[in-house]
Amino acid sequence: MWIGAHVSIAKGFFEAVQTVVEMKGNTLQFFTRNPRGGKARALVPEEIRAAHDLMKIKNFGLVVAHAPYTYNLASAKKGVREFSRLTIQEDLLRIKAMGVPYLVLHVGSHGGQGEEKGLALVIEGLREILADLPDETMLLLEGMSGQGTELGYTFEQLAAVILACDNNPGLGVCLDSCHLTGAGYDLADWVRIKGEFDKIVGWDKLKAFHLNDSLFPLGSRRDRHAKLGEGYLGLATIKKIICDQDLQKIPLILETPNDNLGYAREIVLIREACS
Ligand SMILES: [Zn+2]
Ligand SMILES: [Zn+2]
Repeated sequence: MWIGAHVSIAKGFFEAVQTVVEMKGNTLQFFTRNPRGGKARALVPEEIRAAHDLMKIKNFGLVVAHAPYTYNLASAKKGVREFSRLTIQEDLLRIKAMGVPYLVLHVGSHGGQGEEKGLALVIEGLREILADLPDETMLLLEGMSGQGTELGYTFEQLAAVILACDNNPGLGVCLDSCHLTGAGYDLADWVRIKGEFDKIVGWDKLKAFHLNDSLFPLGSRRDRHAKLGEGYLGLATIKKIICDQDLQKIPLILETPNDNLGYAREIVLIREACS
């Protein structure tokens, strides 16, 4: 099982890995740059090497980078779309240099233009990015809760975007148990939801999973993460998900409202739940 948490990379890649090792995790996620945008931290080759050496010793699984929330390929403003595309391209080069394969991206928000128009803009941006995707990297579309004018909250929308990108092997999916709940997918029936995803999107497209409880109930279209067992999902449902052998082959990332000690406790909880 690859379990880890979203951690800060402000003090560098090695420090971030070290933090997760202390939590007894064996994967991690980090923001490519400050979530509100801005300049990314300079990469230091020695530090990257040290991070990978430590990950190797500790048997880490694949690592996930997350794009800042400010990127929006569906924006009505051309400048925002262009900025988003260029920064995603820059981030992909960055993660390649770091030896990190995945960049998770929120599909986008149409901001009132309508879902059809929004999705068309997302597809346009993605096609440009994918045409020039650095090798050994993949862009993962994150399944959203459908809050506000968010796109990508149904399996059908994710599948439509992937199809319109010619099923490019560089495009995958990241699901989030809180977002799925907000979007109306009842994870208490995990086997059915998994089957539905497999039929509509394809299980092989799923490359990462965000493990969060949800503060709001099924179909709320709200995205508020809760600590495991302290939200609508509860531990019984979370256990059903994480003990799935197929899910244990991809990185599971905690984004619960916790400090590092809280993450460490949740990692123990998860490991014990499936042993
Ligand atoms: Zn996300
Ligand atoms: Zn979320």
